[in-house]
Amino acid sequence: MLPDLHTHSTASDGTLSPSELVARAAAAGVGVLALTDHDCVAGLAEAEAAAAGQGLRLVPGVELSAVWGGRTIHMVGLGIDYREPVLTEALDEVARFRVWRAGEIARKLAKAGFENTLEGAREYAKGQSIGRTHFARHLIKRGAAKDVREVFKRFMVAGKPGHVPSQWGSVERGLELIHGAGGQAVIAHPARYGFTRTKLKRLIDEFREHGGVGLEVLSGSHTRDDAFTMARHARENQLKASAGSDYHGPGEGMQELGRLAPLPPGCTPIWADWPEYALGVGPTCAPVARGCGAATIFSRDRGE
Ligand code: AMP
Ligand code: MN
Ligand code: MN
Ligand code: MN
Repeated sequence: MLPDLHTHSTASDGTLSPSELVARAAAAGVGVLALTDHDCVAGLAEAEAAAAGQGLRLVPGVELSAVWGGRTIHMVGLGIDYREPVLTEALDEVARFRVWRAGEIARKLAKAGFENTLEGAREYAKGQSIGRTHFARHLIKRGAAKDVREVFKRFMVAGKPGHVPSQWGSVERGLELIHGAGGQAVIAHPARYGFTRTKLKRLIDEFREHGGVGLEVLSGSHTRDDAFTMARHARENQLKASAGSDYHGPGEGMQELGRLAPLPPGCTPIWADWPEYALGVGPTCAPVARGCGAATIFSRDRGE
């Protein structure tokens, strides 16, 4: 039962629909899959229905954006009740911010000589929650850059023409929402923030103080070294280890589904005491090695 506890669908900036994602995960041998769209739970009902037909356990999740120390960080909420009203109202508010931000990004890009990017980005978002990745895909189609990574570097991060400062909630607020919906909270892709050891420790302390329990040790955007570093942070801070590909779709730069490396030794997997593992259906510790995480598309992105 390979776990993959961080993935995206067309409900946010993934390119597969929730059903397509579930089918592909099942075919790749993933037994426990969390769909964790950005600030959005709209894909979960479809994913649950699809999972029931595939014999795959779907863990309802969400990836919340938050501001910490003037920077955007991401927290994954696992096992949430995605109909919980405080959460859904908060996400509706974030969705309104995303719509406003998209207009601002387009206005700024127009000033830099790229007209009509809002219409272009909307085509990729297909009426769902809109984000910077949709602008990136549109700009690539227009020939403004060769890949998503280049778009972010040249247009979307702090100091670049299409950058709009984020107005996400605090870490404390995000944790309140996840816990209020009955979920467990995990710091997403911690190695990507480029924090010093001391700074990461400060984030972890605040996160734990408000009830956060997990650290993403394995991530599609972590190197094997990152995984070992994060395993040490998890151990030293009594955090459970999570594992997620951060899959966004075929050819979107992350490693494929079902290919997460094993957890480094000494980690307590966040799924160890979940009922689907207690049933004796699979390994309670490391997922089977199929390959190794490789930091692919993400630079250490200090501007995010
Ligand atoms: P948003 O939530 O709309 O601000 O967009 C964040 C998403 O943009 C991330 O989840 C990634 O999918 C993508 N992203 C952020 N930074 C980069 C980067 N440097 N290269 C490629 N994709 C990125
Ligand atoms: Mn994304
Ligand atoms: Mn993220
Ligand atoms: Mn993600």
